[in-house]
Amino acid sequence: MSMIKEETVVLKNYINGEWVEPSGANSIDVRNPATGEVIAKVPISDAEDVEKAVAAAKEAFKEWRHVPVPKRARILYKFHYLLTEHHEELAQLVVAENGKAYKEAYGEVQRGIECVEFAAGAPTLMMGESLSNIAEEIDSEMFRYPHGVVGGIAPFNFPMMVPLWMFPLAIACGNTFILKPSERTPVLANRLVELFTEAGAPRGVLNVVHGAHDVVNGLLDHEDVKAISFVGSQPVAKYVYSRAAANGKRVQALSGAKNHHIVMPDADLKKAAGNIISSAFGSAGQRCMACSAVVVVGEGEEFVKELKKQADELTVGNGMDDEVLLTPVIRDSQKEKLLKYIENGIEEGAKLIRDGREGTDKLKEGYFMGPTIFDHVKPEMTIAKEEMFGPILSLLRAESLDEGLEFIRKSRYGNGATIYTKDAKAVRQFREEADAGMLGVNVGVPATMAFFPFSGWKDSFYGDLHVNGKDGVNFYTRKKMITSRFDY
Ligand code: NAD
Repeated sequence: MSMIKEETVVLKNYINGEWVEPSGANSIDVRNPATGEVIAKVPISDAEDVEKAVAAAKEAFKEWRHVPVPKRARILYKFHYLLTEHHEELAQLVVAENGKAYKEAYGEVQRGIECVEFAAGAPTLMMGESLSNIAEEIDSEMFRYPHGVVGGIAPFNFPMMVPLWMFPLAIACGNTFILKPSERTPVLANRLVELFTEAGAPRGVLNVVHGAHDVVNGLLDHEDVKAISFVGSQPVAKYVYSRAAANGKRVQALSGAKNHHIVMPDADLKKAAGNIISSAFGSAGQRCMACSAVVVVGEGEEFVKELKKQADELTVGNGMDDEVLLTPVIRDSQKEKLLKYIENGIEEGAKLIRDGREGTDKLKEGYFMGPTIFDHVKPEMTIAKEEMFGPILSLLRAESLDEGLEFIRKSRYGNGATIYTKDAKAVRQFREEADAGMLGVNVGVPATMAFFPFSGWKDSFYGDLHVNGKDGVNFYTRKKMITSRFDY
């Protein structure tokens, strides 16, 4: 059932259809966040490894670009079948290296599978446009072509979904791909490669180079890498965008977030609290669409009481235990950072109404924290401004929806925002004025599905074309216009 082996797995790179040792000898431990155990070692590859992968991908592109689009799609159908067949095993791997709850991991695998489903529609998605008679006896047509070698750089928090946002569609569009998984959650990527190869992908079409900064910089600077898909934290996203764009590449860089949820006085308080609890504390708050700030409109005491009650009832623990919602954060260094944010919140005058530093004494081995809630947080406080990426929730008080919308406008981030209300007028005002790219109405995690763009705004996204949907197809293809005269 599980591919998690007893002995420590030493990961290899996958280049040109073969598992290869990286050129350097450096490697780092991959740990299970719930136990602290080393479950694998991941190589820290260097520029030489990137060079080999780019050469393989460039060579493979010569043939892959000419493979008929329906034939490319058939490989994705087979891949889809294999992923579905291995759904449980893949979810277990996500839990082992990321720490999230099995149910969350199972859902993440499903989201990934849906990306493959979407990409398998390549023959329709890649269709061009045409117009006869743009002038007398003259027609115009538009065809789509791949770029060549594309690089993808992934974060730790969605080891399955994020790589599948990228390579299936890029490859379906005729590109070849080099994936650099997160060095903190690299294990699943190798399993994806195995399944993609079993599905019939020719050698060199998908390559994996493990590592950190050197691999990223190698991809950003290599002249044969034509486009970069990046997902990660804000400073790195901005850096990747700037450097790759300066090198003339097409770039999409998905970045950090600070998602606000507005609770109106007429909301179903129990349901709103429930949605906020699972959005803020599910996956230990390590989701780019997690709720991290709640704007309580009006008096709000009843809602805050309900929220605290539900937070008190949460079970903290290992993601493989059924009843657990709040799982560990990724590393002890992240836990240290979050503990500093709690101290900072207290120093800056926010009211700590639930202290996540308490109640996890029995969970000594992993990187656990209980749910933390601050009330009466002001928009200028550090905990209200920065992405903390952990189970810490800030409650801001507002007198009106207008004031709540102003808090969202002032945030540097614009990934998502949600409103809880039954009032159609408030919903419309929220839809028109909320300054974020993915909105929820009574929905805790308004993440979009594979056929729509994942459309973060402001400092949550650098670039023009988002991942997924038609944006994704536009990103991974370039257009060619042909104008033909027929009275010649
Ligand atoms: P991260 O920025 O630390 O790492 C992301 C990738 O960049 C990794 O592959 C890492 O090896 C590489 N990297 C890190 N530092 C680098 C540097 N200085 N130079 C070159 N490469 C570097 O992000 P993370 O902690 O793995 O992931 C969490 C972050 O990702 C959060 O900020 C979260 O909001 C964001 N995220 C955003 C979205 C979105 O859709 N906007 C989705 C998922 C995650």
